[in-house]
Amino acid sequence: MIKNFKIFAAIFFLIFSVAFPNFVNAKEQINVDVADEQTEISVAEIEKYFKTLPQKNKYKSSQRPLMIQGAMNVEIENLVKSLKNPVAYRFSNYFYVAGTYKNYPVVIARTEQGMANAAASTVIGIEKFNPVAVINQGTAGGHVADLYLNDIVIGSKSIDSAAYKTEFSPAGAGVDFTAQEMRGVYAYDVTTNFFQPHKEFFADSKLLKVAKKAADSHSEFAVAVGTISSSNIWNSNVDYINFLNKKYGSLCEEMENNAAASICQSASIPFIGIRVISNNVTNGSPWDESTAATCQNFVLLVAENYIADVLKK
Ligand code: SAH
Repeated sequence: MIKNFKIFAAIFFLIFSVAFPNFVNAKEQINVDVADEQTEISVAEIEKYFKTLPQKNKYKSSQRPLMIQGAMNVEIENLVKSLKNPVAYRFSNYFYVAGTYKNYPVVIARTEQGMANAAASTVIGIEKFNPVAVINQGTAGGHVADLYLNDIVIGSKSIDSAAYKTEFSPAGAGVDFTAQEMRGVYAYDVTTNFFQPHKEFFADSKLLKVAKKAADSHSEFAVAVGTISSSNIWNSNVDYINFLNKKYGSLCEEMENNAAASICQSASIPFIGIRVISNNVTNGSPWDESTAATCQNFVLLVAENYIADVLKK
């Protein structure tokens, strides 16, 4: 009986390992094997490229690196490919690639989508890489009709557009989300040693300056400077978007910026958000992920200026 079972188990294992080789070899596989769901469908090529990179689990650098974040593979692939001597890291399911750009250490972080992932990836990124500054970048939905696909928004500040309290209204009165009071989110304040509410986070002045310089010296990019709205909400209601623009000056929305900004504020790390318009319901532009490349191209110019004008000075 036991002998039969062993034979049966051996045959089963043989068939199983032929059918699912990755599962059986799981232990031997590289530890950076964290696939991004978006990419699995659209740009699987970059996942293959990531697997060719050397991997480490401890980062060492004599200079503090610049960290550039993007949520999805399509938002980081050009950045990763622009690094010299790239090395992949995986910490707690978050993926990072460190190398050099313009002879300065740079880490590209794939935060994954949404506020919680952005915050977690930023905390872990700060702990593991000790970045000198953080740029959060990627796609966004436009909040004004004169922002078109591939236009860039430099975030002079950001808000969490879901961090509000609505006014009371009784049952049956209907819903009016514009009857709201912004409450903000909590970030650590080094002067008081407390977590304090912030209705907005401001870009670091030096990062803002070099970002504007990149915009001024490269007319191929159409660039606006203003407020980026973040939340896990995807708004398609034009009246509500108009309200966000009117009340908060919001130029665009996405799902990571303010979360990363709050973590950087808590850690006293210079931060800026830079976004590309990838969709805009206020002028009827549907989602186009190819815009992510424009953002990365612009951000590389900002990084170059920041490295030359600030970090190497
Ligand atoms: N292919 C996906 C697109 C992901 S959209 C899909 O169709 O579901 C969510 C990501 O894109 C988030 O990381 C967010 O930061 C960004 N984003 C782009 N446009 C957005 C919008 N209009 N509202 C909210 N997030 C947006």
